[in-house]
Amino acid sequence: MKRNLINPMKNHIFSEVSNDILQKKFIAVARPSLPTAEYILPYLQQIDQNHWYSNQGPLHNIFQERLGALWGVETGRIVLVTSATTGLSLALRAHNITHGKYCLVPSWTFVATASAIVNAGLKPHFLDISPNTWSLDPSYVEYLAERRDIGAILVVVPFGAPLDLAEWDNVAERTGCPVIIDAAAAFDTLRSDGPMRPQKSTVVVSLHATKVFGVGEGGAVIARDPIAAERIRALTRFGFSGGRIAHYSGINAKISEYTAAVGLASLDCWAITRAKWNRVTELYKKYLPSTVTLPPNFGNSWISSTLTVLCSVNSSTLQSCLLKRQVETVLWWGYGCHEQPAYTAYTREALPVTHDYAQRSVGLPFWLGIEEESIQYICNVIFNYLE
Ligand SMILES: *Cc1c(COP(=O)(O)O)cnc(C)c1O
Repeated sequence: MKRNLINPMKNHIFSEVSNDILQKKFIAVARPSLPTAEYILPYLQQIDQNHWYSNQGPLHNIFQERLGALWGVETGRIVLVTSATTGLSLALRAHNITHGKYCLVPSWTFVATASAIVNAGLKPHFLDISPNTWSLDPSYVEYLAERRDIGAILVVVPFGAPLDLAEWDNVAERTGCPVIIDAAAAFDTLRSDGPMRPQKSTVVVSLHATKVFGVGEGGAVIARDPIAAERIRALTRFGFSGGRIAHYSGINAKISEYTAAVGLASLDCWAITRAKWNRVTELYKKYLPSTVTLPPNFGNSWISSTLTVLCSVNSSTLQSCLLKRQVETVLWWGYGCHEQPAYTAYTREALPVTHDYAQRSVGLPFWLGIEEESIQYICNVIFNYLE
């Protein structure tokens, strides 16, 4: 069966897609690709020679420097950690907030954000998002922070979509509440010529295999200055700072030289990897029907490793319709953190937008080698469904 669909809203033609061929092939929602062994090997050989395997070794230091150059921030502001979740927790802990205080956070995020708050000894208080930014509204948060006993504010960069971080510095200044930015999916958004620049608030990036730039497991914290960074760094190494005296009750969240080796190999391939992500982004922008809503400013000078779209109607039947046609989908953020059993007991404001977006959202297959025909096919199914 071949079809030629015309989408009147976008005025382009869904070129002929052979459903027979495509239907036989299962299309996974994600298929991470990290640098291959060939790229990593030279760095492994350096480790062999260095006899240095962890604790801020030579490869770690070069990785940190090269990330600083990529993001256009002083190397000393960067702290490499074992995951973004740990980085968020330590960034909160570095502020010495009284235990048990509330941390304002959107419910519309990955569950790791809430987990980081609880593990830092704070209580998440879930807030709704603004429908335009898919993120917290600064003036609403400022209003709440002035009226309640709030210890911190955790802002989430939704699926990598840029936010105005200077605005959040103002909120931090006016309320006296530290603001931490969960920029887990924003590795590329933060680059030196990218659409979101780190300001004074601590920014945390994930280097997990499922993000645009992966090392397997890992994360990076960008602190306001080298002194703030060193405080977080001390927390990653048992509270030690330049000796064997524990100044804080730290944990072990250091990355090994092997992680740094993958990171350096990933950086060597980054230009090519980025171009491949951009290709997938552009294909979806070309073929998706205009009846679905993309994340704010999607792919506008930044790339992400996921694509969550909003449908005009409840997405659960679309999901089963896609699955029947061998297309896997996922709700990356479920129905919001407040719906997860571990977090239902925490307090929250009314969450109408979160509820609505969770019902209408769907995460589509998005990975480096996905074929153009697969994207056309997926968009075709969506188009037919929403008609
Ligand atoms: C991926 C992600 C995390 C978790 O990052 P890890 O490095 O896996 O700990 C946290 N928050 C958001 C919004 C994410 O997308």
